[in-house]
Amino acid sequence: MTDSVWLQELTWPDIKACLEQGKTTILLPVGSTEQHGPHLPVGTDTMVATALAETSARETNVLVAPPLWFGWSPHHMVLPGTITIRPEVLVELACDVVASLAEHGFNNFVFINGHRIVNVTWLQMTAERVKNNLGVKVVIFDPAHMSKEFKSGLDWGPVGHAEEIEGSHMWHCYPHLVKMDRAVDNPHRTHKLYNIDPHHSGDTLCYVPSSRTEMQAVADKAGGTVGRPSRSDHEAGKRYHNHLVDRLVAVIEDLQAGRKRTDKGSRLRP
Ligand SMILES: [Zn+2]
Repeated sequence: MTDSVWLQELTWPDIKACLEQGKTTILLPVGSTEQHGPHLPVGTDTMVATALAETSARETNVLVAPPLWFGWSPHHMVLPGTITIRPEVLVELACDVVASLAEHGFNNFVFINGHRIVNVTWLQMTAERVKNNLGVKVVIFDPAHMSKEFKSGLDWGPVGHAEEIEGSHMWHCYPHLVKMDRAVDNPHRTHKLYNIDPHHSGDTLCYVPSSRTEMQAVADKAGGTVGRPSRSDHEAGKRYHNHLVDRLVAVIEDLQAGRKRTDKGSRLRP
């Protein structure tokens, strides 16, 4: 028996043994491959979801499915390296992944979303369908929603793109891939109704699509960044990661216990 949490690193007898021992919960990291400014790799969204999944899986003794490296990213196609998949294709793909795993006995699924609000819509459609068609339990874990309490104590601005939140998290998890000397600040414009950040009191308009023209302007001005990546901090990234792992562990434990998810309060580690 291997001690890997990754499904793709196990043999089928290993997986069969896990299922027979009752390991029927599996995490599904979902991100994107899209431009993340001049300082972060295009795999950032998938990498942060993967890091959260791996740490939490070790703490809860569950498995992790191979990450989904693609998301819906039409607004980032103005810069090279971005791959966008139509949301209807992503729903079909994710439903087939869950159906395959469910057929073999997995019955608790946690989608870990690294691509923020843009992935949420099709993940909700997927979750609804697999729950009702397959009778499995499924939740969507979204770091932007799960970090409201944590962000109150930090000098971070609202969610943008490749900003200090992603910069700090990546700096902690993948320091060899972060090029902070190339980071370009592009502070948020004040918007009365829309901030794409559930923590922000002004985030009331739900969703406003970005046009290619608007994104080209962001690309020209700051290499695709929105926010202040110069505020990225390795230590803050570590605390942010640990906060999210604590929340994710609580979600997994509640899901396995068959209880309705409740807020257990802070279990923050140093
Ligand atoms: Zn991102």
